[in-house]
Amino acid sequence: MNYRHSYHAGNHADVFKHAVLLRMSQIMQRKETPYCYLDSHAGTALYDLQGEASGKTGEYLDGIDRLWGQTDLPPLLAEYVDVVLRQNTNSELRFYPGSPQLIGDGLRAQDRMILSELHPDDAATLRDHFATDPRVAVHQRDGYELAKAFLPVAEKRALWLLDPPFERTDDLERCLASMQIAIQRMRQTVIALWYPIKDERLLREFYRQVATAGMPKVLRVELNVRPVDTSLGLNGSGLMLVNPPWPLWQELEQTLPWLASRLARPGGGGWRLDWLAGGP
Ligand code: SAM
Repeated sequence: MNYRHSYHAGNHADVFKHAVLLRMSQIMQRKETPYCYLDSHAGTALYDLQGEASGKTGEYLDGIDRLWGQTDLPPLLAEYVDVVLRQNTNSELRFYPGSPQLIGDGLRAQDRMILSELHPDDAATLRDHFATDPRVAVHQRDGYELAKAFLPVAEKRALWLLDPPFERTDDLERCLASMQIAIQRMRQTVIALWYPIKDERLLREFYRQVATAGMPKVLRVELNVRPVDTSLGLNGSGLMLVNPPWPLWQELEQTLPWLASRLARPGGGGWRLDWLAGGP
């Protein structure tokens, strides 16, 4: 396990993933009934953008920093930036929330979070951060076991972020297998699977497998900051959204052009939004 999210916190992929994830949780909270948030590869709660790891890569400068202090943010992004703002004092961008804190910030009394993180240091930090919150359970275990271990949830409403580090070549296959287990155990589970876009050709088989996996509804959302055939590294990223809550897709249609243009590197910047299974 070499991957540490502290090097990448607040980068373009985090901005995209977190803004969409936050909106999904907000829409689910329109109903008074409780929901359970599951985060299988949770990372930690707060990242210090002035710390050594962020300082080495400076990735947040081409991510959250580009949205900071902007006055023309689309509503979906304004809500996301507000949550980041709340983790900081005096409007200075220093601390960036990981997914557990992003969702934890708005968790209601009746909601619950189940977090799993395999790295011992991050799991311990996460446990300390939420130690006094009885709504939050932190597990140091393999996130791919989450669906089998915890679904169906008593609340009958669940939002699951599946966000592995993609250090292994079979991570996409493992994700898809876990998603299928989740849907078999609780068909209405809302899932957000994040995936990197490096070489688009490598994703074609994955798209085909998702489309034929028997999922009720799957919305594919992608944001590219560089031309997709550039082999520089992370050219963009995607989210496979299973059972996305209405009216997320219309809101994304209004938000993605703005986001893609703000986060684009020279010559890049694009987005995609379409249904691989089911439809609105
Ligand atoms: N979800 C976080 C966020 O959005 O702020 C970022 C997570 S980061 C991309 C992936 C995390 O998964 C890392 O913290 C890594 O230590 C952890 N990890 C790696 N393999 C894992 C596994 N099999 N089960 C659970 N966590 C794992």
